[in-house]
Amino acid sequence: MATARTAYRTCPLCEATCGLELTVEDDRITRVRGDDEDVFSGGYLCPKGAAFGQLEHDPDRLRQPLVRRDGELVPASWTEAFAEVDRLLTPILRDHGPDAVAAYMGNPNVHNLAGGLYAKPFLKALRTRNVASASTVDQMPKHVSCGLLYGDPLAIPVPDIDRTDLLVMLGANPRMSNGSLLTAPDLPGRLDALRRRGGRLVVVDPRRSRTAEDADLHLAIRPGTDALLLLAVAWTVLDEDLVRLGRLAPFVAGLEDVAPALDRFTPEAVAGPTGIDAGTIRGLARDLATTERAVVYGRIGTTTVRYGTVTSWAVDLVNLLTGHLDTPGGAMFARPAHVPDRSGRPPFRTGRWTSRVRGLPEVLSEIPVATLADEIETPGEGQVRALVTVAGNPVLSTPNGVRLDAAIASLDAVICIDPYVNETTRHAHVLLPPPGAMHRSHYDVAFYGLSVRNVVNYSPPVVPLPDGRPDEWEILVTIAGIAAGQGPDVDVDALDAFVARTLLDQLVRNDGSRIAGREPDQLWAMLDGRRGPERLLDMLLRAGPYGDGFGAVADGLTLAVLEGQPHGIDLGPLEPRLPDNLATASGKVEAAPASVLADLDRVADALDAPEDGLVLVGRRHLRTNNSWMHNVPMLTKGRDLCTLQVHPDDAARLGLSDGDEARISSRVGSVVAPVELTHDIATGVVSLPHGFGHDLPGVVQGVARSRPGVNANVLTDEEDLDVLSGTAVLNGIPVTVETVVTVPA
Ligand code: SF4
Repeated sequence: MATARTAYRTCPLCEATCGLELTVEDDRITRVRGDDEDVFSGGYLCPKGAAFGQLEHDPDRLRQPLVRRDGELVPASWTEAFAEVDRLLTPILRDHGPDAVAAYMGNPNVHNLAGGLYAKPFLKALRTRNVASASTVDQMPKHVSCGLLYGDPLAIPVPDIDRTDLLVMLGANPRMSNGSLLTAPDLPGRLDALRRRGGRLVVVDPRRSRTAEDADLHLAIRPGTDALLLLAVAWTVLDEDLVRLGRLAPFVAGLEDVAPALDRFTPEAVAGPTGIDAGTIRGLARDLATTERAVVYGRIGTTTVRYGTVTSWAVDLVNLLTGHLDTPGGAMFARPAHVPDRSGRPPFRTGRWTSRVRGLPEVLSEIPVATLADEIETPGEGQVRALVTVAGNPVLSTPNGVRLDAAIASLDAVICIDPYVNETTRHAHVLLPPPGAMHRSHYDVAFYGLSVRNVVNYSPPVVPLPDGRPDEWEILVTIAGIAAGQGPDVDVDALDAFVARTLLDQLVRNDGSRIAGREPDQLWAMLDGRRGPERLLDMLLRAGPYGDGFGAVADGLTLAVLEGQPHGIDLGPLEPRLPDNLATASGKVEAAPASVLADLDRVADALDAPEDGLVLVGRRHLRTNNSWMHNVPMLTKGRDLCTLQVHPDDAARLGLSDGDEARISSRVGSVVAPVELTHDIATGVVSLPHGFGHDLPGVVQGVARSRPGVNANVLTDEEDLDVLSGTAVLNGIPVTVETVVTVPA
């Protein structure tokens, strides 16, 4: 009889970082519960977390590499697979240079330790300028605006949801997403607590989302016009002399340029395009300015639009003007335990290079994924001939997926690190499956920087890695070694030691770290024999703001300390971090970045844009996360999630009934989806979720294929961008909708 044991692990399936209590029998997870003792989540669990075991034990999950032979993907040993990577990549790199190999890093990279710590050295080894990630799909505008405001694109303030009395939320649905660029387990419970303590929730969204249902006020804004609303709120705060910078006043630059730049965006001017009357906008501005603890938070609906960077800036501008930036109950910066107090990087700028074909500026060393197909299709020096994907499915998750799908199929080499044969990896020449989450250690490198409390938690592997199977970080290091010309027999330990020593050298040079100026050789000798991510994490924790400074600080954090705390350590509520956290050249918050103010002319065009025609927006469901959980039976049962939501008034005009098949068409493509009539969506707006469309030939995901849905990114337009960030418009796409006439047989 199998012996059951209990293991604790942070859930890696979304940004909320909940603690899981796993029952393990014979190396199988037989039960999943929320960890009641987790210092952050306190037992909370959503349906995705409950499905952790099913995801791990999915029979369609690859456990052995696949290599393309005679057109077919066939099983291979790891030795054969890495030899094939070398055979394919090395000549391309030699003959065409590093830019001929593009890389796409999918969203799950930020949910695992290997991706968090080894993606950077991996990409550095590839030396290509053609890198794109899921960040360029939906969050780069926030990085750009924060880079311009604070000098550090990763310094993203989060709403201090547990202490605020007024939360104004735009384009976010945390009752379904569980938070985005906002790490807070049990967000539904936290929103309930806000209301219970007398606080108010205002939701701005074209859909009456699940979050909007429980709001004190729901403003059904016209998609893509959040910038206009926020600019009018800021204009009102300035016009009515409601500005209060408080403690930050000496640390703000450029404020004198803001008022003249906003003079066009009065509440009356934006009322028509936004669909929100001027009185409501003025009232919102006054509420924000006069409520002691208030905050504006914007997410997907504010970043996947034509003016995403302006909108993201405007969110922070309103918080700044109303005295709610870097104050309890406002928008605050987390203090992650593994990040030195100052970034150590030069002040932020974009456009250090531009993409070859469309000349789009680099941001955070990435080009927009919206131009990846251009780079593959367009002949000439620097043409992309090979693609390496890591945990990514850009055919489903990036704009104009049909075009990108065809472009990827034309490549000389496609190397994928992924556990599934999905819509993108079906084109792979080599498919390298990483071990499942239960075989890997975990620490949330990305999300403790976006957390509403300062917490820290480390999870060791739940089940040991089977013999002969490389960990994900070892796969990345091996490909990095191949790209560096070492051939397929890479000395992983030597290369890993190089990565670790490079990091240590950087940490001692960073004057914000707890080991600044120390002798690296001495510190290197103090490391305790770990390898891989554990060695890197231990160094980061020890050099970080709560660290032991390699023995310099009594009771400071080390990885060994975390290993003794399986439910995590609560490091306390968020505390003000400005001006110390600023990395701008001026040392101040740059309230009026020139590039953002220049883009206001483009935003002003929306004031006169006619309001005709339907526009498409996306939506999330609690049981899904982009494209990668549709093969889990317990998450896919129940009603069809991939429906086109249509308001009954629009449906009547279009001759559509509930359950009809409708053809949705945009500039770039069309799909057919079943109609769901609902009053929860504004007239003039239709909604289709993303991440579906699993019926392409060759996909090996039996459950997902049984309910494939349609790919919303057949409709999204790779040409329609937020110019400052290169992020494509995914919300507010002009579409036509018509009934599909079935011809009787
Ligand atoms: S909310 Fe996110 S982290 Fe928490 S259990 Fe669900 S998927 Fe996991």
